Amino acid sequence: MSIWEEHPLARRFWKEGRADFPIYDMHGHMGSLNTIHLARAEADQMVAHMRRIGVKHLVFSHHHALFEPSFRNVRAWEICRNHPDILRMYVAINPHYPDHIREDLALFDSWKPFAVGLKLLPDYHQVPLNDRRYEYALRFAAERKLPVLSHTWGGSSCNGYPQLAEVIHKYPGLIFFIAHALFGDWEGAERLVRESAGNVYLELTALPGERGLLERLTASVGSERLLYGTDLPWFDEYQVVGGVLSADITEQDMRNIFYANVERLLGRDW
Ligand SMILES: [Zn+2]
Repeated sequence: MSIWEEHPLARRFWKEGRADFPIYDMHGHMGSLNTIHLARAEADQMVAHMRRIGVKHLVFSHHHALFEPSFRNVRAWEICRNHPDILRMYVAINPHYPDHIREDLALFDSWKPFAVGLKLLPDYHQVPLNDRRYEYALRFAAERKLPVLSHTWGGSSCNGYPQLAEVIHKYPGLIFFIAHALFGDWEGAERLVRESAGNVYLELTALPGERGLLERLTASVGSERLLYGTDLPWFDEYQVVGGVLSADITEQDMRNIFYANVERLLGRDW
């Protein structure tokens, strides 16, 4: 049986170019960067693109909030308010500015429903995930059961397996999204999910281009532990949706990845 016959979900998507199921993109960014040209980096362009394909919510952390201390998270919240149906945000955590972390997290509740979790970027900030400079933010998230999306990469000395394992074991209830699924260290990623109490997820940015990987992770940890994400505007929604729909997994696996896992965590109305 071909993939088309097997998955009506995919067949309809190829035909219409638009999803007739919800898509939650759990890993996005926004804003220009001086090291790379990003085709659609501003909110209006990104939102128009997501509407074309059928993304229901994008959860993003603004590049400038991550890298530029004069651009605070409140600015991302203001952008969300201009696109309240589709945009949600991670509060960007920059470990080099502890005062900003405390001030911004004190505002977290007032930024709901747009603020849904926290974003950490240890490799880029050159502060290992298990460094005490993240403790306040991690404790804040663990106590409130807020998801934390952390950049990860296999073999990294800031956000590789040892640092993730330490943090995940230290905060056993923490809802932890492993961005890029510890790219390259698939065994480590599988171990982290298996050893958790069901609160650790692998986020798929950059994976659907790797042949056979979605099939492997679906078999090893289950599609209930996988989350759709694109790193928009770095990668394109069509590439990642196409990658998931082309994988040799069941239609229910696809639904879990696109939306069902997130709805189990955050509900349908968030
Ligand atoms: Zn990212």
